[in-house]
Amino acid sequence: MKCTNCGNNAVYKIQSPEGTIYLCIDCNLKHEQAQSLEFERNARLLNKLAGDFEMAVGLPLGIPRIPIPPPPAIHTRDLKLNSIKIDRSNIGVLNTGTIKTLRHVVTTLNNSGDKDAAAAIKALTEAVAAEQKIQAEEKNKILDILSLLASEATVPKEARRKAGMRPLMIELMTIFGGIPGLLQLWQQYSPVIAGLFDIKL
Ligand SMILES: [Zn+2]
Repeated sequence: MKCTNCGNNAVYKIQSPEGTIYLCIDCNLKHEQAQSLEFERNARLLNKLAGDFEMAVGLPLGIPRIPIPPPPAIHTRDLKLNSIKIDRSNIGVLNTGTIKTLRHVVTTLNNSGDKDAAAAIKALTEAVAAEQKIQAEEKNKILDILSLLASEATVPKEARRKAGMRPLMIELMTIFGGIPGLLQLWQQYSPVIAGLFDIKL
């Protein structure tokens, strides 16, 4: 049986005022969401009427209210567990375009199976963004360089501009070397990034 709404394979049979309809998993979810929204709307209205009535009478009459269940968790997009997380307080001072590039690269690398590189870029970006001992200007500089390296990593390996990435890696190594809180992270993740360009530091 096909879904009455979209034509995919149906798994639900529903009696509606218009007759029997068949729904696939997706369309049934939408159907149930629509129903619970309608229920919730009605319940809110009845609860409000009860409140209005009690107010008009001037006494709390204890009219029972309809409990409104919390809305179900609806994931309309893929959960991006691997996406870069940056605290709201830090996002304001960071270059939005750079963060967008870094997020895009992490997603791309994850999708292409280069999970280690994605994890390295994600970890370094999050740590730099959250580090309190460096100024916003310095953070943006580091993330700018990191985003250049990261973008180049999305190119097929044989086409990457490896020699061109070397000065950037050395620049980052120098900067990270001067920030005690980030040095350990750099030592952990820089070999992964260097490996993307066959760079030996
Ligand atoms: Zn459907």
